[in-house]
Amino acid sequence: MEHNLMKTVKTVLVAGGAGFIGTNLCEALLEQNYKVICLDNFFTGTLENIAPMQENKNFTVIEHDICTPLDLKNIDEIYNIACPASPIQYQKDPLFTIKTSVLGAFNLLELARKNRAKILQTSTSEVYGDPTIHPQPESYWGNVNPIGPRACYDEGKRCAETIFTNYLHQYGLEVKIARIFNTYGPKMQANDGRVVSNFVIQALQNQDLSVYGTGNQTRSFCYISDLVDGLIKLMATDKECSGPINLGNPNEFTIMELAKIIIELVGGTTHTVFHSLPIDDPKQRRPDITLAKTKLNWQPQVDLRDGLKRTIEYFANKFSLHN
Ligand code: UDP
Repeated sequence: MEHNLMKTVKTVLVAGGAGFIGTNLCEALLEQNYKVICLDNFFTGTLENIAPMQENKNFTVIEHDICTPLDLKNIDEIYNIACPASPIQYQKDPLFTIKTSVLGAFNLLELARKNRAKILQTSTSEVYGDPTIHPQPESYWGNVNPIGPRACYDEGKRCAETIFTNYLHQYGLEVKIARIFNTYGPKMQANDGRVVSNFVIQALQNQDLSVYGTGNQTRSFCYISDLVDGLIKLMATDKECSGPINLGNPNEFTIMELAKIIIELVGGTTHTVFHSLPIDDPKQRRPDITLAKTKLNWQPQVDLRDGLKRTIEYFANKFSLHN
C-alpha cells in the first residue's frame, strides 16, 4: 500500500529550471507535490530565482549543461526549457544557442528513452519567423531567414521540433511540443532586453521608454502563470496529443500601445524615445489558440493590465523603485 502511494509522487526534471519560465514552472510543480529536479547551466538562469525553493525537500538542483549527455534515473517527466530566449541573450553566442537547442534535444530525448519518461519541448513562436499569415496557426510553416541574426534561435528551435518529432515516430517516445509566444511576469531577467522588462524598469526609473522602429509592430503578451498552466496541461495529455500547440495570449498590441499602458500604470512623466529596429524583427505576432482551447481546455485568464501591475510591483520591489 505504502509502495503504491510512493509511486504516485512523480519526479519531474526541468531543464532550464533556474530561468524565468523554468523557475515559475518549478514553483507550480512543487505546489502540486511533484518532486522537482532543476537542471541549469546558469547561463541566463540565476541562483537568486531558485533560492526560495531550496528549502523544499522535494526540490533538487543540478548544475549541468544539456549540450553534454546526462544520466539520471527514475524520471517520470522532462520539461526542456533550457535555452537563452531573448534576442540579446541568444545572439551573444549564436553557436552555443544552436548547440543548446540541437544537442540539448538529443541528450534530453535519450534520457527520456532510458527512463521511459514523457518529454515536453518548449518551442517558440519564432519558428514562424516574420509571419505572412496572421494570426499564426500551428499548420503555418513560417517565414524564417536562415542566415539572419535571429536564425541561431529560430532554426535551432525548428530543428529541435524535427528531432522531437522523429523520436516520436522512430522510437514511439511520448513527446509534446509547445510553441510559446511572448511571455512576461515576475522573475523575468532585468537585463535580457525584453520589451516588457525594459519598459517597466525604464518607467520606474523615470526614463523615456526605448521604442524600436516605429512602434507599430505587434506582439501578444501572455502572463507567466497562464503559460505555466498551459505547459502542465499539455504534459498531462495522453500520448496522441504531441502538438505542436501554440501557447500564448491572443490579445495583440502594438509596441506603442504597450508603452502607453505601462506609462499610465507606473505614473510619472516619462515619454517614448525612438531607436532603430533590430534586423529581422517580426512585424506582427499573434497566436491562433484554437488547438490549445480544444485539446487542453486552456486559454489565458490574466489580462494585460493585471499582469503588468504584478510585473511592475515585482520590479519595483526588486530594485526598490517606487514612483
Ligand atoms: N522592443 C522595443 N523596445 C525595447 C525592447 C524591445 O521596442 O526596449 C521591441 C522589439 O523590437 C520587438 C518587440 O519589442 O519588436 C518585442 O521584443 P522582445 O525582445 O521582447 O521579444 P521578441 O522580439 O523576441 O518578440
